[in-house]
Amino acid sequence: MNTATIDRLGALPLQQKSAPMIDPFGRAITYLRVSVTDRCDFRCTYCMAEHMTFLPKKDLLTLEELHRLCSAFIAKGVRKLRLTGGEPLVRKNIMFLVRELGKEIEAGRLDELTLTTNGSQLAKHAAELSDCGVKRINVSLDTLDPAKFHQITRWGDLAKVMEGIDAAQAAGLKIKINAVALKGFNDAEIPDLMRWAHGRGMDLTLIETMPMGEIEEDRTDHYMPLSEMRRQLEKSFTFSDIPYRTGGPARYLEVAETGGRLGLITPMTHNFCESCNRVRLTCTGTLYMCLGQNDAADLRTALRASEDDAYLSQVIDEAIGRKPKGHDFIIDRDHNRPAVARHMSVTGG
Ligand code: SAM
Ligand code: SF4
Repeated sequence: MNTATIDRLGALPLQQKSAPMIDPFGRAITYLRVSVTDRCDFRCTYCMAEHMTFLPKKDLLTLEELHRLCSAFIAKGVRKLRLTGGEPLVRKNIMFLVRELGKEIEAGRLDELTLTTNGSQLAKHAAELSDCGVKRINVSLDTLDPAKFHQITRWGDLAKVMEGIDAAQAAGLKIKINAVALKGFNDAEIPDLMRWAHGRGMDLTLIETMPMGEIEEDRTDHYMPLSEMRRQLEKSFTFSDIPYRTGGPARYLEVAETGGRLGLITPMTHNFCESCNRVRLTCTGTLYMCLGQNDAADLRTALRASEDDAYLSQVIDEAIGRKPKGHDFIIDRDHNRPAVARHMSVTGG
C-alpha cells in the first residue's frame, strides 16, 4: 500500500471525494449490483450446471464487510443498489445487510435499493423487505406451467414462488417479472406470461440468454433473439416504444391490449453498453467492471488492508479507470463456448 497516496487522498475535501465516478468513456457510474452469494436453491438449466462447485465459504466477505464496501461506493456517488446472486435470499442473515442499506435511503444517500430473486424465499421476507425501504423487486419466472417450471429450474416449486409474489404484492412491493426467452421452451407461452403479469399490475421483461459459464446443454439450441420474439408478438399485440427507464438496460414498450409494459434486455442483438452506468461486486469482494469481460479488481484485499477507506477508494478509482467499452457476446454455431467462464450466479443478473 502506498501511504503517501492514502495521506493525499485522506486530505481531499469531502465534496471532491464523493464526486461521481466517471469511466474512460465518460459514463457516470451510479449503479452497483452486489452478488451476496453464488449459491442458489434452484439450478436453472441456462444459468448453472446441476452439480456446481461453489466458492469456498472461507473466501466470502462477511455481511459487515459487504456493507462497508457498499457504503464506500455510495460515498463515491452510487445512487442505486441491487442485491442479487445466486439467490440473495438464501444468504444467512441477509436482512441485516438489507436493513443497513435501507438506512442509506432514509439518510438520502441512496435513491433506490432493489433485489433480484427467484422468489422461493420471498413469502418469508417480503414484509421485512418493504419495512427496510425496498420498493421494487425483480422476480425471475420463465413459465407458469408447474411441470415446465420444475424442468427449467431443476429444483424449483412454482407454488412457492407464487406465494412469494402474493406476499410481496400484499406488502406493497412493486414487482417486475424477468423471463429468459428460450426457443422451444417458453417462446409460445410469452403472450400468456405477459397477460398474466400485466393483469396483476407487474411489468414483464424478456432477456436474451447470454453465453456465461459451462452448462450441460448447447445454448445455441434455445437461443431466441428478441427481435424475432418481438415480430412474433406483434402478430397479436400492438406495441409502442416508450422512453420509460428504470436505470437498468431494459428498453420498454407499451402494450395497447393489456395496458402494461414489456421490457426487452437485448445484450446479444442490441448491445446497450454505450449507456452502461453500473459495475458488479461479488460476494468475495471482486469488482467486475463489465458483465461480459474478465478484468476485475480485488477489493477484499484493499478492504482488509486498512480500517479507513482511503486505499479502498483509490483501488475503486483505478478499477473504474479500466472499465471497458463493452462486451462481445456472440451465440451461434461457430461460437458455442461461453464468452466468459464464470456463471451468471457469480456476478448476478
Ligand atoms: N437467483 C436470482 C434470480 O434468478 O432472479 C438472482 C440471480 S440470477 C443469476 C439473475 C437473472 O439472471 C435471472 O433473471 C436469470 O434468469 C438471469 N440469467 C441467469 N443466467 C443467464 C444467462 N446465461 N443469460 C441470460 N440471463 C441469465
Ligand atoms: Fe439460481 Fe437465479 Fe441462476 Fe436460477 S437464474 S439458478 S434462480 S441464480
